Amino acid sequence: MSGRYAPSPSGDLHIGNLRTALLAWMFARSSGRDFRMRVEDLDRVREGAERRQLDDLAALGIDWDPPLVRQSERRVVYEAAVAGLVARGLTYECFCTRREIAEAASAPHGTPGPYPGTCRNLTDEERAARREERPAALRLAAGTAEFTVRDLLHGEYTGAVDDLVLVRNDGVPAYNLAVVVDDGAMDVDQVVRGDDLLGSAPRQAYLATLLGITPPVYAHVPLALNAAGARLAKRDGAVTLADLHTLGWSTADVVAAIADSLGMAARDAAGMLAEFDPATLPRAPWVFVPPAPA
Ligand code: GLU
Repeated sequence: MSGRYAPSPSGDLHIGNLRTALLAWMFARSSGRDFRMRVEDLDRVREGAERRQLDDLAALGIDWDPPLVRQSERRVVYEAAVAGLVARGLTYECFCTRREIAEAASAPHGTPGPYPGTCRNLTDEERAARREERPAALRLAAGTAEFTVRDLLHGEYTGAVDDLVLVRNDGVPAYNLAVVVDDGAMDVDQVVRGDDLLGSAPRQAYLATLLGITPPVYAHVPLALNAAGARLAKRDGAVTLADLHTLGWSTADVVAAIADSLGMAARDAAGMLAEFDPATLPRAPWVFVPPAPA
């Protein structure tokens, strides 16, 4: 039984990411689970970011159980999982562009909703013709439109399952596939992450059941926001550990700010773990206003 944190090494972690990582670590350790680290480096990798992310997490007092998993080293595992689904007739090629999907979906502002299944019933001739035009992505032929997960903060959560992409049209395994295969392989039965991913949990849990993996219990925690109420980002100012150090904050000051945001009196990670009680976690987002440069 394990919890995990799964950063994408596309840049440095900001204080909201660090807070989510501390929460994931506390959820896992306080429930007697191992805590695993997975580097989600299938795309958007920035040079040196993995090292800095892991150093920052360790500096906060987070520890994790080996081995460190890197998705870039697991392509054969994803390919085997996909091959199994293909052999069971649970996949199909999709040639849709983002734009076609947005136009087909009736969602407002062209926001892609669930994939409408456009390519599911192509004839052999149509498929052959479209193969000439562009490479195919591979989609799951989902057998349900919704699925229910258990979330420690959101209760029973039912959400949409669509024909999600398993392999992108550039041949890279899709996030939803990799996450499910890896959580299964890493013995992860508790997934704590930002609540921007709550809507993805039903399709991931459903895919898990198809792969013979028991879906984890989830805890989708509130995100950190900027003063304008938007999701905290690098452009909001001093939000990374390195930025905050530059402005005179120690690592302990950062941990203390996170503890304050969680209503905790402890000033370090070990103390926070001892004090941790999921029932008293704030349910609202945390607004972080970066200190102004001196
Ligand atoms: N790698 C994802 C991210 O950094 C997290 C995925 C997950 O926790 O399932 O947003």
